[in-house]
Amino acid sequence: MLVLKFGGTSLGNSSRIKEVAELVGDGVPKIVVLSAMSGTTNKLVEIAQDLYVKRHSEANEKIDKLYKDYRKVIDELFADQIYKVKAIELIDLHTNRLRAYTQDLFTIYEERAVLALGELISTAFFHFYLEEKGTENVLLPALNFMRIDKEGEPDDFYIKQNLEREMEQHKGQTLFITQGFICRNAFGEVDNLKRGGSDYTASIIGSLVKAEEIQIWTDIDGFHNNDPRYVDSTAAIRELSFEEAAELAYFGAKILHPSSVTPAKKANIPVRLKNTLDPLAIGTLLTSNETGEGIKAIAAKDGITVIKIKSGRMLLAYGFMRKVFEIFETYKTPIDLITTSEVTVSLTVDDTSMLPDILVDLKKYGTVEVEENQTIICVVGNFIAESKGYALQIFDSLKDIPIRMISYGGSRHNISILVPSGFKKQALNAMHKKLF
Ligand code: ADP
Ligand code: ASP
Ligand code: MG
Repeated sequence: MLVLKFGGTSLGNSSRIKEVAELVGDGVPKIVVLSAMSGTTNKLVEIAQDLYVKRHSEANEKIDKLYKDYRKVIDELFADQIYKVKAIELIDLHTNRLRAYTQDLFTIYEERAVLALGELISTAFFHFYLEEKGTENVLLPALNFMRIDKEGEPDDFYIKQNLEREMEQHKGQTLFITQGFICRNAFGEVDNLKRGGSDYTASIIGSLVKAEEIQIWTDIDGFHNNDPRYVDSTAAIRELSFEEAAELAYFGAKILHPSSVTPAKKANIPVRLKNTLDPLAIGTLLTSNETGEGIKAIAAKDGITVIKIKSGRMLLAYGFMRKVFEIFETYKTPIDLITTSEVTVSLTVDDTSMLPDILVDLKKYGTVEVEENQTIICVVGNFIAESKGYALQIFDSLKDIPIRMISYGGSRHNISILVPSGFKKQALNAMHKKLF
């Protein structure tokens, strides 16, 4: 069994959908995980924002536009009137539900249900299109088996049991389609795995069905050695270890959802990154092998806040660090980078939702400064031979960039540098020129 995930860009219009249908119709048993068509989830987010603040006419305008766009897709995608009608009924149902929210209460629960519509539509269209083509396939509703627990972690036991039950109802079938991103939470409500979460869905499913391989199909020929949105002449990497890919994804490489490597890594299932626009390109293979030496790739994560705590005492007395970390633990806020000096600790967070409370508690132990709009640049590779001067090359390339923090030596695989976000593009390009 293979698990293939196609992202929004792979399903951007009717001809792309047709190409994906070609790719999956080769008879090899597989579960196909689909995102929403590109742009849809963003539009749903905007509609939800309008509904929240009761901008009903704006919401209705956006719903009308979405409806029109989907009618166009339907006209281009289906040749057979039966399937056209089925698809129209489906978007009528969903857009009518959206419009009904303008008359009703709209809370976070409704918002999550709204965000789920993109995947519900794309998978239904794909299922109908395959049927029209005569390719047998089964649509598995992710909301019947994908579930997260109270901590927001996948509930593996529940997912496995329910997915197997769903699949057993279709014995002899080899092509299963399901929604990425969407799930239910511990209370049974519609929820999601956070933006970009379809990669995570594929990895969770792949690990639980013990797939031979998990394939993430997108609009680029694999994992590149730098962010192609900011740097020209980036190049695809043939192989990366799970650790390296996870680190890069966590630190901003948008090609993978930050959590998506974990399930595959735990189950030791290879992940292949492939390009829908160029299916023959080799792509990138992620495995547990640590191959190669030296610097492999760079990624950058924006929206970072630095918190600097100056201890009330002259020197960092023992117990001070524990107190600081406990505060972040209490508020379930992960720390990314940390550096210390004799009297201060600087650390970075990207989730600032609990920051006001955290600051109140931190101020009990010293003076606190906060600076927003920072970017972590993460250099990943295998720095076995320290003597090769990797750090020197990195810092040499950054001589014109103000560096706020440096994290080196935490692992043999990562060097992280904090810079003001305004310098991100310049820093990525300068490093690229020097390092690759
Ligand atoms: P999908 O819709 O298939 O999920 P995404 O937009 O989420 O696609 O991810 C693919 C995009 O990730 C690429 O088009 C590219 O611009 C961006 N990206 C950022 N960093 C990297 C990287 N290191 N390697 C490849 N792509 C990257
Ligand atoms: N459609 C969702 C999003 O745009 C999930 C995904 O694309 O993976 O975030
Ligand atoms: Mg994505």
